[in-house]
Amino acid sequence: MKNPILGIIGGGQLGSMLSSAAEKLNIKTVVYSDSKNAPAKHFCDEFIFGEYDNKGKIKEFEKKIDVVTYEFENIPFDTLKEIEISKKVYPKPEINKIIQNRFFEKNFLNNNKILTTKFKLIKSKEDLTKINNLIPGILKTCTLGYDGKGQFKIENKEQIEKLKVDFSKDYIFEKFIDLDKEISVILTRFGENKYEVYEPFENKHEDQILKVSKIPAEINNEIYNKSKEWCIKISETLNYIGTICVEFFIDKHNNLYVNEIAPRVHNSGHMTINTHNISQFENHVRAVCGLDNIKTEKLFNGQMINLIGNDIIEYRNKKIKSNEFFFDYLKNEIKPKRKMGHFTKIIK
Ligand code: ADP
Ligand code: MG
Repeated sequence: MKNPILGIIGGGQLGSMLSSAAEKLNIKTVVYSDSKNAPAKHFCDEFIFGEYDNKGKIKEFEKKIDVVTYEFENIPFDTLKEIEISKKVYPKPEINKIIQNRFFEKNFLNNNKILTTKFKLIKSKEDLTKINNLIPGILKTCTLGYDGKGQFKIENKEQIEKLKVDFSKDYIFEKFIDLDKEISVILTRFGENKYEVYEPFENKHEDQILKVSKIPAEINNEIYNKSKEWCIKISETLNYIGTICVEFFIDKHNNLYVNEIAPRVHNSGHMTINTHNISQFENHVRAVCGLDNIKTEKLFNGQMINLIGNDIIEYRNKKIKSNEFFFDYLKNEIKPKRKMGHFTKIIK
């Protein structure tokens, strides 16, 4: 069988790393992005610039590819559905529709007996007066938030009165967890009960942005097993194809909660390029392109540091050792709070 041509919607660093993984497998990539000089332009075979709801441009893209995936969840449902009429789309648009909305996502989890933080849907200023039992907490947009964007921490009632919120969008208000640790589990599902799952990554955030991930995570066996089990259950229930990431909170009493799901490759798994025989990116490309799974094994423990904003400058001139790997996303401009690259260290 001839290798399919893979379409990737989104041209950020995840799109770049997916393209590189595809190249290794001899699979051609066409990246579609709404940013003219998206980083993935440097890594893909062909690049199309267009808005995510531009029907004409999407048609042009559709003609060039056999299967479509995406590197971020905020793509209009209608766009994915339209493509699906003639081409395969993984993960399925219906799955993305659930996950791209925090309210749908949390309901899906709770309906499947998976614990999340306590939350309430907020549609108006008035709804915000009914959240006493959830304070201190955090107001999050239901859609389009990432890296802490669209989030407001609320410590007391007075802060609610001062809050300026655009209620043309829906929000959830979430109770703060007394956090001990954050972990994530990444899995690639190829079909029914056919998956490759990575061990949990331990993650540290600064300003709500991931800063460091490492394996092994310092967690007990129960949390190790339960987090993997929940990730498997989520992917089986969704009949998912491709790489999925589940982010977890662990509180000071060792309770495990799902924070959120990413229907895609995930920042916490970047080290898999260097720590495993098959990376999360290669596994994703394999799954969505219908290739077989290869038993995924850890070769080394490791640590990944995100290079945010000006962090990148030092690393561009740094001497890199043989157990270190530096990835520069080649973004046009350095901006604060923006992921510019990452640095992985493997422990031999
Ligand atoms: P994003 O979609 O931007 O990643 P998250 O909901 O994952 O948003 O929040 C980003 C980070 O903020 C989390 O990884 C965690 O560190 C912190 N955070 C978010 N919600 C809570 C909460 N309910 N309790 C404690 N910490 C939280
Ligand atoms: Mg998150």
